[in-house]
Amino acid sequence: MTNCVLCNEDLKPEEGHLVWCGDDCRIILVNDADLPGFCRVIWNAHVGEMTDLNHGEREHLMSLVFAVEEAVRQVMRPDKVNIAALGNMVPHIHWHIIPRYKNDAFYPGSAWSTKTQETPAPILASRVQQAGELSAAIREAVSRLN
Ligand SMILES: [Zn+2]
Repeated sequence: MTNCVLCNEDLKPEEGHLVWCGDDCRIILVNDADLPGFCRVIWNAHVGEMTDLNHGEREHLMSLVFAVEEAVRQVMRPDKVNIAALGNMVPHIHWHIIPRYKNDAFYPGSAWSTKTQETPAPILASRVQQAGELSAAIREAVSRLN
């Protein structure tokens, strides 16, 4: 546990910020200039796979993922939302929720593919304002879950 980057996560502002934290999960807004609105929902304890969770836990986690997707669609107005669970490096299930645009830096590949173009200036310019709006929208969407 001591050398797990997610357990030791002391989020630096340049990496992202904590939007919401519950007993089992937390939601991070990733600070990535090329992918504004990129969020992660992370299972707090060491659990490697979705099927290691019981049914109630799976449902809880996915309800948070969908709450984030809703907020991302509302605030970011993306052309598509990419949702992915990779987690090859850390023993924590986590879902990436990534708003995608036809003019983003990685279109049409995944967010982990090679950049195909520079991120357009309007996307760069709007991301600070959107970060505040998105954080508020995520908290609002999560508060509606119960
Ligand atoms: Zn850990």
